[in-house]
Amino acid sequence: MRYLVLSDIHANMEALEAVLADAEGLFQQAICLGDIVGYGPDPNQVTAWVRQNCDAVIRGNHDRASASLEGIGSFNPVARAAAEWTNAALEEAHRDYLRELVSGPMRVDDFELVHGSPFDEDAYLLTLEDAWQQFDSAEFGLTFFGHTHVQGGFCRRVATDEPVVISTRDVLDVNLAESHLVNPGSVGQPRDHDWKAAYAIYDSLTRQVEFRRCRYDVDTTQRKIVEAGLPAMLAERLGLGR
Ligand code: ZN
Repeated sequence: MRYLVLSDIHANMEALEAVLADAEGLFQQAICLGDIVGYGPDPNQVTAWVRQNCDAVIRGNHDRASASLEGIGSFNPVARAAAEWTNAALEEAHRDYLRELVSGPMRVDDFELVHGSPFDEDAYLLTLEDAWQQFDSAEFGLTFFGHTHVQGGFCRRVATDEPVVISTRDVLDVNLAESHLVNPGSVGQPRDHDWKAAYAIYDSLTRQVEFRRCRYDVDTTQRKIVEAGLPAMLAERLGLGR
């Protein structure tokens, strides 16, 4: 089975459409690691697409916050403003769908999905040290995670027992006897200094992960953010990829 692995779409329809065009013919099932909405100007369109097209979906912290306003006290002012805007903009059926999404970990095939980390959907796995704590109790050889908006991840090699950073330049060969934490990157708000939409394709037969990036019409998304009255820095950061 070939999977389209999406995370952190963040209500960015232009980025999602570009990814779907770029990935056409490359996958049979789509999976989503959460943060469908929040920050971006198209929460209804993006949620409708996920509802209709994703075979496995877990919630992210922004889905939880935007659907119920639960936990927004811990958000910074920009994220809180975006969650409140999204909550008001969402159609009721989409808001209900987001509120009822389950949190990870979710098992799919021979791998698992989490938003932040296997133990905490709000945790950020940014460094080897963050990853190291996860490897000891990893139940699966392959875990897809999101939340950081940074494409790549970490692997613990059997031979050396050392964790290493995964390169996004090469196709990743997954050995399920080892531990892999893999982030497809963010479709709708990349923060790894590359503005292009990020995603991954996982082939469970060849056990290979391909990291991909594609250009999208960022000018249109930025204009929509400003016109919606969302904080202007949310438009600016899309152009910078951070
Ligand atoms: Zn996110």
